[in-house]
This record gives sequence, structure tokens and C-alpha cells, in this order.
Amino acid sequence: MVDVGRARREALERCRGGRGQRVDLSGEGGLANALGRVLREDVRAAAPVPAFRAAIKDGFAVVAADPPGLPRRVVGAARAGAPAPGLRVGPGEAAYITTGAPLPEGADAVVMVENCSREAGGAPFGRGDAVPGAGEHVHLVGAACAPGQEIRQVGSDVAAGEMVLGRGERLGPAEVGLLATVGAQFVDAARRPLVAVLSTGDEVVDGFSGVDPGLGQIRDANRPMLLAAASAAGADILDLGIAGDEEGSLEKAIAAAVSAGADVLLTSGGVSMGDKDLLKGILERLGQIHYGKVLMKPGKPLTFATLPREEAAEGPNELLVFGLPGNPVSSAVTFYLIVLPCIRALAGWQEPELRRVDAVLEEELRLDPARPEYHRAVLRWVPGQGAFLASSTGGQISSRLLSMRSANALLTLPQRAGSLPAGAVVPALLIGDVAGMPQAPGAGG
Ligand code: AMP
Ligand code: MG
Repeated sequence: MVDVGRARREALERCRGGRGQRVDLSGEGGLANALGRVLREDVRAAAPVPAFRAAIKDGFAVVAADPPGLPRRVVGAARAGAPAPGLRVGPGEAAYITTGAPLPEGADAVVMVENCSREAGGAPFGRGDAVPGAGEHVHLVGAACAPGQEIRQVGSDVAAGEMVLGRGERLGPAEVGLLATVGAQFVDAARRPLVAVLSTGDEVVDGFSGVDPGLGQIRDANRPMLLAAASAAGADILDLGIAGDEEGSLEKAIAAAVSAGADVLLTSGGVSMGDKDLLKGILERLGQIHYGKVLMKPGKPLTFATLPREEAAEGPNELLVFGLPGNPVSSAVTFYLIVLPCIRALAGWQEPELRRVDAVLEEELRLDPARPEYHRAVLRWVPGQGAFLASSTGGQISSRLLSMRSANALLTLPQRAGSLPAGAVVPALLIGDVAGMPQAPGAGG
């Protein structure tokens, strides 16, 4: 029996050096394909942003050195998307300009339209007011203006050659925006690992078939859950269906994972002590079992094996097989603790482990003297206390999938007799989106 840390390390060691591919970001499909991927190269800006001196406000482009009270003759207009290439603003002149438009030559400041008027000492322009056109005059309302005011200088957002994204960074919305800003349509990014999922058990039937289970049958919770979990982790998924407790159908499903080039095979069920739990024997025959029992509650029967796979150009040449326990909670918890970090590592994450925070127990929790326990809980932030408060999801028996419902953390409870009182601080491993956690009253942003 190995402990959870060792079980994770042994699996993670086999996830190094994932493969890369060139990703095209153009179009809707390109975005969906790029999101969540890890870059395998630095991305630099070929040209400065902005590429021209751009107005920050709608107003008038002027010469800052002109006396403040001077009426300025309007010589034209430069609008965003409709620049006036030959337009020049000299002393005593001004040009109407809109936000984002290139500054006309000669101008070195922009005065926002709210600080301009038609008459000396007159009311400043409001929204929708007609502004002076070429040949008319405009007056500044306030004091002198400073050179460079309300102007974004060339390269002030991104300098030419500046690195905007680094190797190892994950592509989220802002990163996609940056790639678009510098025109990087193609990037070298990590390939998504392919995760195949198989349920096993003579009693297991498809839960979405519309047919009620017969006597002794149960609906397959694990396969949809694990496919969803792998997909949410950024993997490509392959549904291998349900195999009976029988060597032939199990071997056939495993062969399908190998021939599809899967990186990871997740099975559930068939790894405990019953006479129909055949998986360990098969995995032993086809490959190598690295461990078959982990000191954890739930999830003790978790089995990890590797099978040879066809030679890949780069990256691991083995199929990683995780034989997850059949009980749905056990398979979910072992997925998060052991499999998820591996999927992340294969997807190129440099820090694939679950994030850990401290949490304060809302209620007393009993401990298990035989195994460390991963208690499902909902964390929420308590304003003013600087702490996450952890509420248990209730009965923790490993068949009760409701104990995973809305859980965003696994509390790591020590292996010992007795209990932890309400108010105790425990390490909590994040398995959900803390940005979407339930809110304590008054905690809103
Ligand atoms: P096993 O490890 O195969 O003995 O399964 C342990 C328990 O989990 C048994 O009660 C199974 O019926 C149940 N189980 C196995 N596979 C699934 C599944 N895919 N969905 C829901 N329950 C399952
Ligand atoms: Mg079974």
C-alpha cells in the first residue's frame, strides 16, 4: 500500500515531456481549440502597439506650446479608422480627433472635447453638440495643456520585440486577446492528452438510455462523470462504453484505448477483492502494475499501471491506466487527487498539482484511525475573517455521489482516532472553481 503523495509522484513521473502542435487561432473553432492550452514558445510583438501616436480622448489635437487663450483654427478631422494622412496641425491650429485616431503631424497634445468651446469663455461642448469644422475656430476652456497629454505614444502598450507571453503560460481569454493584438495567428502549444474512459461491471447499464435498470442493475454514473471531468481538465475524450466482468470484453476495450493512441485510460470498478474483479490480473499480464492499493479514504483500491503503446515521435510511449474504484465517490476523489495532476502535466502544466488552501471547519468532523480521509466540502470566503469556511457535504459513504455535489474542495483529514472540532484549520485541496464558489452573506464584489 502506497500513500497518496507517492501514488501521485509515481504517476506524475510518467507524464513528462508531453507533445506539442501548431495551433491556428483563427475563427471560432480556432479559439475553442486554443483555450486552456499551454504555450510551448515565447511570443513576442513584431511591431509596437500602438503602431502610431493615438488619441486617448475625443477632442482636438493641438500644439501644446500655443498660448492657452489662443483661438485655434480647425484644419480638419482625424477619426478612428478614417485617418487623414496629409493632415498637419501647425501653431494656432487644431484638428478634430476621436479616440484611437492617429495624431496629425505637428500636433503634440489632445484636449478633450469637454474642455473645448466654440466661443472664448463659452460653454464647453456636450455630447452630441456639433463641433467646429475646417475653417472655424475652437477655444480651450482650461489652463495650458502639456505636450503628450491624452496621447498613447508609439509602443507605450507593447514595445516592438517585447515578450507578451512566455513558454509554459496557459491560454485564457486575456492571453488570446494578446495573441490577437500582436497578430500571432499560429502558436506552438501542448497537445491535449487523449483520455479514454471505460466503465466495467455486469450490473452497470447506460444511465441515459431511457430504459429503467432491471433487478440488480445500476445506472453508470462513473463514465459520464469521468468523461466530463477529463474534458473539463482540457483533455480530448474517448468513450469506450461499458464492459462486462469478463476477460474478453475488458481486453477488447483496453485494446481499443491502445489503438486509438490514448494517453490515459480510466476504468472504474473491477479492482477490488471480488471473484469478478478481473482488471488487475489483465493489467499485470499486458503491462506493469505500479501500485494496486493506496492509503486513502475513499479510494483504497486505486490501481496504476502502464501498457506499451506504439512508438510516438515525442512524449511518453506508454498508455497510463488508472483503475479507479467502482464506487462513484471513490472514482471521483481518486480522479482529482491522482489523475487530474497527470492530465495537467500531459497538457504541459508546469505546476500540475491541486492547489491547497487552509480552511476553517464549520462543524466537528470525525477522523478515521485507519486511513487519511479526503472529506468533500464546500468552501466559501468569509469577509473580514481572512479565511475560507468549510462546510461538509454530509454523509461521506463512497456510494453517495451527493457528497460530491457542489464540492469545491477535498479536506485532508489526518489518520487518527477522535475528531477535529469546529474551528479547526485543515488543508483543503481545491477541486472546483473558487471564482464561482457560493457566497457568504455580504461577500459580494
Ligand atoms: P466494484 O469495484 O466493481 O466492486 O464496484 C464497487 C461498487 O461500485 C459496486 O457497488 C458497483 O455496483 C458500483 N459501481 C461500479 N461501477 C459503477 C458505475 N460505473 N457507476 C455507478 N456505480 C458503479
Ligand atoms: Mg464491479
